[in-house]
Amino acid sequence: MQTEQEYQQHEHQQESEQLTQQKQRQLNQKNLQDQLYEFKKEEVQQVLKEQNQSIQIDPNNNDVGSTSPLLPPELIKSKRRLLVMDMDETMIYTSFKKLDKYDFTIPVIHPSGHTSKVYVKKRPFLNMFLQECSNEYDIVVFTAAGPRYTNEVLDYIDLRSVISHRIFGNNVTRLADGKYIKDLGRLGKPLADVILVDDTPDVYAKHPKNAVHIGKFKGEENDEQLKQLLPVLLTTLATVDNVQNVLDTSQSFEWLCNKAVIDGKHVWYVIYYYCNVFTSFIPQINI
Ligand SMILES: [Mg+2]
Repeated sequence: MQTEQEYQQHEHQQESEQLTQQKQRQLNQKNLQDQLYEFKKEEVQQVLKEQNQSIQIDPNNNDVGSTSPLLPPELIKSKRRLLVMDMDETMIYTSFKKLDKYDFTIPVIHPSGHTSKVYVKKRPFLNMFLQECSNEYDIVVFTAAGPRYTNEVLDYIDLRSVISHRIFGNNVTRLADGKYIKDLGRLGKPLADVILVDDTPDVYAKHPKNAVHIGKFKGEENDEQLKQLLPVLLTTLATVDNVQNVLDTSQSFEWLCNKAVIDGKHVWYVIYYYCNVFTSFIPQINI
């Protein structure tokens, strides 16, 4: 029979073992995340090396990268507005650690030669979001990641080819302090018609009137931000003369989403849009 003291000692020992295991799990998780970061960083560095474009940019220089446009000619000439989507933590969440629920995996070969998998989870409503936006906008993905990783991910996501173009990590503008920006001025499109959706404020510091700050997606099943953003993109932002008259990253995400219904003249468009979505489920009737 255990004495009270022995019982307490045993409990204490169990508790400390659990804590040690928990710490080890946290450490393992952090190592895996670090590996993923290193994987992406190495890929970007490789691309920079290959293309001999290792640049140190002065953040106050507004002429950065004003060479050839990042968009192909057909997108520059297009009359449609441009929706620029970030990839990691805006459209997807990735992890080296197996996620409880994930949509697909992509293989990774590390510089050391060993292979592993990256688990990828799509943000809820991603495919609906891209599909609906493709009716109003030309869609491009602008990511800091390298082409191999980006193409592997987007080939799984974009089965209907609604993403018109992919811009990779060698085209972000790297600053002397290690951060980077996405210079929308290099796209070749008037900024009145360019909207960037990104989870990292640093990247659109130069374009506060062209960006939507969406929350970081970390794999949450109940995330609804893409669904919430859709009405304002399909109404106010699709019809206003200049998107810079609406977008303002000093305001909240909810403030922007409410712009879809605050402006009375667009309410009918919202009703029209949802009627279209509803009737699209009704089989076509030949009259
Ligand atoms: Mg991101």
